[in-house]
Amino acid sequence: MATQRIADILKNGQPDESVTIQGWVRTKRELKNFAFMEVNDGSSMASLQVVLNPQLPNYNDLLKKINTGASVEVTGVLVASQGKGQRIEVQANHLKVYGESDPETYPLQKKRHSFEFLRTIGHLRSRTNTLGAVFRVRNAASNAIHQFFQKKGFLWIHTPLITASDCEGAGELFTVTSLDLKQIPRLDSEEIDFEQDFFGRQAYLTVSGQLEAEVMAMSFKNVYTFGPTFRAENSNTSRHLAEFWMVEPEIAFCDLQGDMDLAEEFLKYIFQYVLENCAEDMEFFNQRIDNTVLATADNIINNDFERITYTEAIALLEKADRKFEFPVEWGADLQSEHERYLAEELFKKPVIVRDYPKGIKAFYMRLNDDDKTVAAMDVLAPKIGEIIGGSQREERLDILEKRIQETEMSPEDLWWYLDLRRYGTVPHAGFGLGFERLVQFMTGMGNIRDVIPFPRTPLSAEF
Ligand code: ATP
Ligand code: MN
Repeated sequence: MATQRIADILKNGQPDESVTIQGWVRTKRELKNFAFMEVNDGSSMASLQVVLNPQLPNYNDLLKKINTGASVEVTGVLVASQGKGQRIEVQANHLKVYGESDPETYPLQKKRHSFEFLRTIGHLRSRTNTLGAVFRVRNAASNAIHQFFQKKGFLWIHTPLITASDCEGAGELFTVTSLDLKQIPRLDSEEIDFEQDFFGRQAYLTVSGQLEAEVMAMSFKNVYTFGPTFRAENSNTSRHLAEFWMVEPEIAFCDLQGDMDLAEEFLKYIFQYVLENCAEDMEFFNQRIDNTVLATADNIINNDFERITYTEAIALLEKADRKFEFPVEWGADLQSEHERYLAEELFKKPVIVRDYPKGIKAFYMRLNDDDKTVAAMDVLAPKIGEIIGGSQREERLDILEKRIQETEMSPEDLWWYLDLRRYGTVPHAGFGLGFERLVQFMTGMGNIRDVIPFPRTPLSAEF
């Protein structure tokens, strides 16, 4: 049977139209001569109000079954709503209850639940207003990302999740093994003998698809990945997950300037798209979660991002009239408090910091002529800190080899990456956007665990 989406009915439904909807009961109100029921099918924040009259067959029996959380199908006729709060409602002619929901034990009641509590019921929390809105925004932002790149002719490529290279060199890798953990084969040196493992060598879950994206950019010019990445970083923060989604464009014949321009245009596009396609949800976030969300979106779309060098950033931080927990010193990485100071307090908008000291950045970033900094750029967002990390890549073979040595990466493992500099090398650049950080930034959600359906964090992999 053809059923309608509640979002479409609320938007376009006209009196006297017949409709059939399917969804879950949010609330039920029994009055003397009839009852109201709110049904939600996830298509919008708002539920559809259903009026139930005693003429319905088995009316009293049905009323007992439609508690919060029950699944139902309703066929009826649309009427202009008398009550305030909705334009249109359904007079039910037919009500089918698929699955009941015991009001004594169903954990979602019509009150505000804390996000901590909702995380303990990860299998039900997507039925709440807030999480529902988050996952609709997440969907719209995903769609916007593909649209943005596809319109520009970027090829969507799929990079492996299992890999033998530690792209970032940060040692935050999960090992993938099929070795019998009760009988781990060891070498004389007591080290694990990974030659006996599935891949004949130690393999990991990827921390980034960048190196493989560079391969593909050397034949398709402009490519992007959009997929999961994994980091075994034991940082229990509101901005780190062990499994998160990353968007990584890689652009051939492009320098850092082009990279920064793309990152800015990209963020503006996604914000614009989400504002247009999730207006009701964004309004909700502004009202209930963070009242700066809409102003921030407007700010992103309509203003140029600030652009400064790392050296300028350090000078600004040194002049700041406040104490930081971590020292500010040329050569040290910017901490989250520094990043937030710059974006949130000083400039009050996204800031792109570029040309970081080579000592704190990955081996593949292009060495600048000063021999001290690399052509790296981070986009720092108010409240979030780093949201995008990118760079121009080192395309010169001799310098790349030297950097690999300096950073103690293994040139043997990277032979194919070095080959790209041997055969038809070109200047190229790219960046990585942490997708959950973007969703956090858009929605104002304070904890990254609440913007992904099933968060993976240290000591937590339920659901
Ligand atoms: P941070 O310093 O915040 O840990 P990073 O320097 O490790 O970030 P990159 O290696 O540049 O980050 O990764 C690219 C992007 O991926 C970051 O800009 C950020 O948006 C996102 N990101 C990095 N680590 C995580 C994580 N553990 N969970 C969610 N997103 C992350
Ligand atoms: Mn990190």
